[in-house]
Amino acid sequence: MSISASCLSRRKPAIIETKARMDTPILTQYYRIKGEYHGEVLFFRLGDFYEMFAEDAIEISSLLNLTLTSRNGLPMCGIPYHASRGYIARLLKYGKKIAICEQMTDTGKSKGIIERKVVEVITPGTAIDEDYLEGGTSNYLAAVWSGPKFMSFSYIDLSTGAFMATAYPAAGGPECLASELERLQIKELIVQESLVSACGDMYAVIKNRAALVVNRWMDWQFDQERCWRRLSRQFGVPRLRGFGLLEHAPEVIAAGVLLDYIDATAGTLLSHIRGLFLYGSTEFVGIDESSQRNLELIRSLGDGSVKYSLLETLDHSRTAMGRRLIINRLLHPLRSIDKINARLSMVETFYHNQSSLTEIRSSLSKTQDLERLCSRLAMDRAHGKDLAMARNAIGHFLSINQLTSRFELHFESEDAAGIDEAVLTRLADLKGLLERALLEDPSTLLSEGKLIKRGYNADLDRYHLLSEDGRKLLSGYLDEERAATGIPNLKINFNRILGFFFEVTNAQLDKVPDYFIKRQGITTSGRFTTDRLSTLESDINGAHDKIIETERRLFLELRDTAKEHIPDILAAATKIAELDAAASLARAATVNFWVRPVVNDGGAIHVVEGRHPVVEAHLPRREFVPNNTVMGGASPPFVLITGPNMAGKSTYLRQCALFVIMAQMGSFVPATEASIGLVDRIYCRVGAQDNLARGESTFLVEMNETAYILNTASEQSLVIMDEVGRGTGTNDGRAIAQAVCEDILNRIKCRTLFATHYHELSLLDHPCLVNRSMDIEETNGKIVFKRRLRDGASMQSYGIHVARMAGLSDHVLKRAAEIEAALGREQSPAPVKRPPPAAKPREEEGGLLF
Ligand code: ADP
Repeated sequence: MSISASCLSRRKPAIIETKARMDTPILTQYYRIKGEYHGEVLFFRLGDFYEMFAEDAIEISSLLNLTLTSRNGLPMCGIPYHASRGYIARLLKYGKKIAICEQMTDTGKSKGIIERKVVEVITPGTAIDEDYLEGGTSNYLAAVWSGPKFMSFSYIDLSTGAFMATAYPAAGGPECLASELERLQIKELIVQESLVSACGDMYAVIKNRAALVVNRWMDWQFDQERCWRRLSRQFGVPRLRGFGLLEHAPEVIAAGVLLDYIDATAGTLLSHIRGLFLYGSTEFVGIDESSQRNLELIRSLGDGSVKYSLLETLDHSRTAMGRRLIINRLLHPLRSIDKINARLSMVETFYHNQSSLTEIRSSLSKTQDLERLCSRLAMDRAHGKDLAMARNAIGHFLSINQLTSRFELHFESEDAAGIDEAVLTRLADLKGLLERALLEDPSTLLSEGKLIKRGYNADLDRYHLLSEDGRKLLSGYLDEERAATGIPNLKINFNRILGFFFEVTNAQLDKVPDYFIKRQGITTSGRFTTDRLSTLESDINGAHDKIIETERRLFLELRDTAKEHIPDILAAATKIAELDAAASLARAATVNFWVRPVVNDGGAIHVVEGRHPVVEAHLPRREFVPNNTVMGGASPPFVLITGPNMAGKSTYLRQCALFVIMAQMGSFVPATEASIGLVDRIYCRVGAQDNLARGESTFLVEMNETAYILNTASEQSLVIMDEVGRGTGTNDGRAIAQAVCEDILNRIKCRTLFATHYHELSLLDHPCLVNRSMDIEETNGKIVFKRRLRDGASMQSYGIHVARMAGLSDHVLKRAAEIEAALGREQSPAPVKRPPPAAKPREEEGGLLF
């Protein structure tokens, strides 16, 4: 963006001011402050502009397309103060950190150089302003610490106060860190200096993430004792213990460092951070980075947008709070049957009460982001519109609460569950106060009044009256004095030297009472004032200033009162989020015809007439062909799927993984019946994709991911593998695919869906393996994909048919058929190694055909 003409014209006075004042003291001051903020862009306030100098000016002028000027060879550029938010938002997107340096004394009143100070550092991970954030997504700042045995990782969304920490063995550190960074889309990370310089693997994880802002902190700052003290200051020791955190736990370090960092940037006490949630590897289903991507949970592989992702189909939320919770649940499916059932029950309640659902969703749609408001309240940055928003949102919360009170709902968070009459009364009182005090549409500034309603404060009302009716008041007073003194021609006049005064003609001077104070005598009359006239005068003159000052004081009082209510407001926000998430899932279930799954720990997955939620949603109604899924329990856990390209294998594979994720996050699923045996991790290796951006070859990536699955999957995991081995030559590709199958069958024994175009693999004879294929109908040399899963393997790849469908010309197709026939004569299928029997044979569904 180029700087607009209007900006340039407004910029002029500041240049003049800057030139006039760009003497050594200001530069010395600038360099002193910049010295403390090397890593940040310093926005140095000069009058109505933020100026940048030297390297900052060169870099930022080119990033923001600003005019770069120079003074005595010093490069400089500036942005108007009133338009700074847009520029800051853009710089945050570029991953920049911005130190805001303000003038601490009034320009007019100061003698010598104006005092300046950095009042705030805004970074991509600590931004809390709506202008800098995306409404429905979380904005995470994280810290990672690695010790000899353990690593800890902690993250926080400062805009909502959600604060989490975990620890894992140091050995698996890089993978765990990579997966957390991807899962949470961390914006900014604090790491130990030695971790980046000494540990190659860890450095590789961080370096690969272009959008991540990395802050290297000295190792001594990652000190257990110091971090424990910081956490204790935030929460108190008994509460820390209540969260399950002990003094020597590894999580203390990453979490403590995060708070230290926020202290250094935000510089305010963070009263909205009320708890620290410790999560472990047993809490949630592990979904690693590439599985999350391959399953297109929150963005599609195509263009990286939410379109064609599972989120798009699931998310019918009405509030930003609900949307964030849905994303969070989608990325962290649960492993506790009770918790999953509690979520499912809430969805079911709304599902069966459609008219309430409509009513609740309509109220939710008017409810603004109370959760993020709390961070602005906690950091004393809420403005008039924020409080007006709080007033309205609390009102909506109270009515939603009323609407839902007739249902028996079990809330997951303690805050939401703990909302009782006392909390409701306090919130209603706060709403009442804001209604009485705050204008309907207040200003966002503190410096122009337009915040407080008439009738709320007597002083303020008087100042308004004075400002508007000053002349009327004077004439009323004049009438009073005329009557009191008996001087009929008494006048009130005004001049710049005396201000307001009574003018008494010489003939009437003997009637002047004692309380008239002489100011001046002229030939024809005397000029007097009274205490009351002086007061009136200063009231009139100062009314405007007083209005602004009083409104500001009253507003700050209101804001402090609201701040005291942060725990109540946060509890309301959490409850809204839970209700919205459940209502959203109930709505998705209604419009897409999903059913409540039964979750159990039986180790089987049985789905009747399952559909891929996203593919189905984008096809015309009833065009999606449903398929059953039976794996684990009494049936073989390993399903080998063969069939030509385009037959629907990938879709089927993914839909099975999606049923499990949806069920374990507490959503209904696209099927007519579903029973899901809980899984601990889900892996999805689909196709061979190049990761050229990271400088890795297709095959290397494929093998990396395969190795990761084989090294970490357990018997409770669900593995989806599509076309493993495709990235290399036919023979070694097939050999690798077979060896991987054997390892899963013989050692890991987890539920697996394995799709392959190596038809020879269907000859694998193992009691835990069952062959299935996608049905194809062939008539008169033409094939029709039935998209229906059938028992048994497919021995044909129909590649030439698919090529015909794709429009390859007849002569090429004819030649391909000849070559295929010749190859068929040359090669007989290589014998397939039969693995040693691993478990006692089970009765197989469908049986082996070959
Ligand atoms: P494969 O993995 O066998 O090459 P895909 O799963 O990529 O096949 O599916 C090929 C096409 O068929 C996709 O465009 C998909 O939308 C469509 N498709 C897949 N499964 C079904 C189904 N069950 N019902 C309807 N269309 C389907």
